[in-house]
Amino acid sequence: LQQAVQVMGIEWHEDRFERLETRGLGVRVTTGQGRALDAVLLVGADGARSPVRLAAGIEHHYTPYGDMGVVAHLDIGLPHQNRACQWFTGDSVFALLPMPDTADGPQASLVWSMPEGRAREWQALDADAQQAFFAAHARAITGDRLGPLRLRTRPQGFPLTLERSAMVAPGVALVGDAAHRVHPLAGQGLNLGLGDVHDLLDVLRTREPQRALGDPRVLARYRRRRAEPVWAMSLVTDGLHRLFGASNAPTAWARNQGMRLVDNLPFLKRCLIRAAVGD
Ligand SMILES: Cc1cc2nc3c(=O)[nH]c(=O)nc-3n(C[C@H](O)[C@H](O)[C@H](O)COP(=O)(O)OP(=O)(O)OC[C@H]3O[C@@H](n4cnc5c(N)ncnc54)[C@H](O)[C@@H]3O)c2cc1C
Repeated sequence: LQQAVQVMGIEWHEDRFERLETRGLGVRVTTGQGRALDAVLLVGADGARSPVRLAAGIEHHYTPYGDMGVVAHLDIGLPHQNRACQWFTGDSVFALLPMPDTADGPQASLVWSMPEGRAREWQALDADAQQAFFAAHARAITGDRLGPLRLRTRPQGFPLTLERSAMVAPGVALVGDAAHRVHPLAGQGLNLGLGDVHDLLDVLRTREPQRALGDPRVLARYRRRRAEPVWAMSLVTDGLHRLFGASNAPTAWARNQGMRLVDNLPFLKRCLIRAAVGD
């Protein structure tokens, strides 16, 4: 992105957003280094804690899952063949995402969602104990499908939440995690943010010529355009989280039958994949 910014000759400030004032249909941003920048539209792409969202007073709902997503970089024993694998253990979701091979052999990225208390205990252990805890659980969960797994980095945990916001205020639009957050079990957080950027650009490009970029009516269109995809993805990821967390026998049976059915119907599988990437 930085290279693209350079090639396009776009002005770049290595700075931080700090304050916001509304000025007519635009805004004035004050940065950490004390610069004042006037803009007709400020796009807040500043992550889940979004200082822009707070400063603009954009309505926001937050529901903690009580789980942490623990991430680490792994050495794996067998080639991953560019496949992502995920195991649902009842109270945790263990995902291995393929990474490029290194001289040390095949690599994967771990995203292990687990109850917050257990995640904190694991992170508090010393390096050897962390490795032993991981090796024992990884083998039990994966059955060594990708061979023995070994931590290359210390595990880092992030609290998992379901979040949504009103996405816009006069002169301000939010994209990505600043606007919404979903459970990572479907690996769709980034796609949802890219969808925001795509739809925001489309709405801005097709606005009436007399309307400013930060016009509330234009931004309301962006909010409406994103309402359904964000709602649908929140529903799917939250639903999957509840479904795979359910321990009662009939639900578990129906869930496993459903997964088998999807696995045996390539057409249905392709439809689900297309829906997930917003095609
Ligand atoms: C454990 C875990 C696993 C995940 N796994 C996946 C996955 O497999 N696939 C997937 O698609 N998604 C995944 N996600 C979600 C994905 O990480 C996010 O959806 C994505 O990173 C959001 O991108 P973003 O640019 O909106 O926010 P961020 O990546 O959080 O970036 C926000 C940026 O804003 C900057 N910033 C903050 N404050 C200021 C300020 N005041 N001024 C200037 N800049 C500021 C931050 O420094 C940061 O660089 C996962 C999330 C978690 C927690």
